[in-house]
Amino acid sequence: MDRRSFLKAFALGTVVGKTGLILPAQADDTSFADPDENTELDLNAEIDEQYIKDYLDKIHNYDKVHKDDVFVKPKDLRTLRSTVLRLQKVQNYVGPANFALLSFDACVRSAANVSRIGEFSDAEKEFMESVFYTNAKDYGFFGEKPVDKLTSAVTRDDVEKIPGTGNYLIRGAPIKLYNKIRRDIGGSVILTSGVRGVIKQMHLFLTKTIASGGNFSMASRSLAPPGHSFHGVGDFDVGKVGWGARNFTEYFADTMEYKRLTDMGFIKIRYPEDNFLGVRFEPWHIKTNNV
Ligand SMILES: [Zn+2]
Repeated sequence: MDRRSFLKAFALGTVVGKTGLILPAQADDTSFADPDENTELDLNAEIDEQYIKDYLDKIHNYDKVHKDDVFVKPKDLRTLRSTVLRLQKVQNYVGPANFALLSFDACVRSAANVSRIGEFSDAEKEFMESVFYTNAKDYGFFGEKPVDKLTSAVTRDDVEKIPGTGNYLIRGAPIKLYNKIRRDIGGSVILTSGVRGVIKQMHLFLTKTIASGGNFSMASRSLAPPGHSFHGVGDFDVGKVGWGARNFTEYFADTMEYKRLTDMGFIKIRYPEDNFLGVRFEPWHIKTNNV
């Protein structure tokens, strides 16, 4: 494809690379036709091969600092740290499985009621609120936001705990898909992360931000900012039994389990290689059709 056709296709969201290039305009809607209406990316004359090359370099080297990365403001650094510490204490208190389902309001209440956790300060609550409502496109994350309220809660009746995993899945399509995977591929594939509510995603994202030197953009290349994770609405992660943390690396794509998952055709990877959502390749993350 020549440059002109590629850029046109890019703007129309119809470019699909060998690994299934996903463009923001594409989403699940192929009816998109007018590039002028696309505000997801500044799709204008400035977009050229260099832009795309730089972009791909960024998501391939997701754990490096890149030009235009957004960092936490120096004045908020202490609040970032104290918020993460308090969230950690809440997690220890309620246990990891409950923490995955905890709503913002329930989290704030738990902390206030338990003296060894201590109440979230106004600054901490405001910080979490501002992180939740920041436009993630500013970080360079172009995924959707399936959960749009800080106070959204996962309903207990809608989820089921998956034995032996410490994780919950949403009833209906996600559980059916997981059971089918286990039936067809076998017991060497296991659920490694299921439903994650706003607070769980907040904790993961802020912890990642600290590990990234306060770089929100770097964190968002590995982990959806709170509200943007499809773990809140049905997606889940799988891994190979016994692989531990390696399941969350690109090496998972070399396993027989991954090969069988893709060969058998019931896997649609939400963040394929060279996706245009601003996210690294996540072969372990299973997209469900729950939304
Ligand atoms: Zn995931």
